[in-house]
Amino acid sequence: MAKRTQKAQPKGEMNLMKLMEQFGTDEKCRMLLEKLRWPEGVRCTRCQSDKISRIYKRNQFVCDACDYQFSVTAGTIFHDSHMPLPKWFAAVYLMCESRKGISANQLKRTLNVAYQTAWHLCHRIRKAVADADTSPLVGTVEVDETFIGGKAKNMHKADRARRIQGRGPSGKAMVLAAIQRGGGVRLRVEDRRDRETLHAFIKGEISPDAARIMTDEFEAYKGIEDENTTHETVNHSKDEYVRGDVHTNTAEGVFSLFKRSLVGAYHQVSVKHLDRYLDEFSFRFDNRNNPYLFRDTLLRLISSENLEYKELVKDEAA
Ligand SMILES: [Zn+2]
Repeated sequence: MAKRTQKAQPKGEMNLMKLMEQFGTDEKCRMLLEKLRWPEGVRCTRCQSDKISRIYKRNQFVCDACDYQFSVTAGTIFHDSHMPLPKWFAAVYLMCESRKGISANQLKRTLNVAYQTAWHLCHRIRKAVADADTSPLVGTVEVDETFIGGKAKNMHKADRARRIQGRGPSGKAMVLAAIQRGGGVRLRVEDRRDRETLHAFIKGEISPDAARIMTDEFEAYKGIEDENTTHETVNHSKDEYVRGDVHTNTAEGVFSLFKRSLVGAYHQVSVKHLDRYLDEFSFRFDNRNNPYLFRDTLLRLISSENLEYKELVKDEAA
């Protein structure tokens, strides 16, 4: 087969009509997956040879070098699924398009699939986007913590209480956030709200060359500055929330968006899966201005290994 150097066509911003037109059939979906998986032309998944023939009838390739037969979805997340590819594509579209995320129940209704299928799909897509960008944050970075869990209407009060008590209400998960102004977000679940944990999080997520780190006045943040990075704080306990451009409002905004997405789409989230939801949220947030999010998510899915259903269920039951 001739080597193809043509890159996967950026289709521009996706919308529902384009989705139906462009990816309404299994064949059309396969064509895009093929371009995403092998932008330089199909290669054998066993020996990497580019001498490949097509078996059109069965949607298979056969390697001229080693005789191996494979499909575009072989070894990927799409493979074992009995679901038609257009439904996969629709699920990806819906999860990308919805700013607050989409629940398994919504997906079940929209795609007309069993709840278990929808749930599995959500988790696979989340898992695939989980290894999102991990490059260190630069510029001006806000760092803050919040607590997730309990009744939504009490959440604000609980947030206030923990600021006064200096610790979180029991049964809640603490989430740390580092947000680069105008850039990406990093979110992580941690147990302890102490100096060691906060400093380790900051060192792990923020470049040593970042210009400024902004936090509230919480003691445990003290000492994070160095010769390259200033540490600026606002004193929330004295009702100071903004001083010039010093504030953690971007972080607060991200927390409230995340909390609304939990209440709106998921209703409840087990703490066990919280990391995965945070990853999905971060991915969506970091890509809020990316017109190719749909294509990029498919690219991650076709590049990621299959997440066994058994493994997920085991997680859930444990
Ligand atoms: Zn081969």
